[in-house]
Amino acid sequence: MEVSRRDFLRLSVGAAGGTALAGLVGSGVNLGPVVAQAQELRIKNAKVTPSVCPYCSVGCGTLIYTVNEQIVNIEGDPRSPHNEGTLCPKGAAIFQLHVNPNRPIQVLHRAPGASEWEVWDLDRAMSRVSELVKKTRDETFIDKLPNGKLVNMTPAIFALGGATLEVEFNHLCQKLMRGLGIVAIENQARI
Ligand code: SF4
Repeated sequence: MEVSRRDFLRLSVGAAGGTALAGLVGSGVNLGPVVAQAQELRIKNAKVTPSVCPYCSVGCGTLIYTVNEQIVNIEGDPRSPHNEGTLCPKGAAIFQLHVNPNRPIQVLHRAPGASEWEVWDLDRAMSRVSELVKKTRDETFIDKLPNGKLVNMTPAIFALGGATLEVEFNHLCQKLMRGLGIVAIENQARI
């Protein structure tokens, strides 16, 4: 049994829509064509840009749809041999990486023992991070092992990165971390 788009919308927005819709699905109604049509309308006239999911090293191909330079949809690229149009749940949520009103856009600091977050400006936060890195490195630096082997390292700081960090960031991060003598470096980018 097919259902028209008009029927779908009418059932969805009515007071009893949820129940009726659940009943339709439960009785075996195929909503696939309606959902596909709604999707098609959303991306109609959108500009499509091929890209790659940033979340893991599988590198699934994606298609990013934009209207007036605003992202309206992201989905798997059927031309990609990795994913053939599919995305895992993480990849399917990439839209929220870009469009997410819950994303913090200011530096938040919670002092030890405090229950509230405080907004800091970026310069203040970076200065504090620098202070703590220097202090920790100075206090824990090992130049030679007991057997005399030169190591010039600190075991007290580690660097952790994720797949959304791009090549340029990772290149600079490696230079900084290794320059500081930090050897515990982990990143999904498999540096
Ligand atoms: S869609 Fe999933 S499997 Fe594919 S690259 Fe993204 S995170 Fe990895």
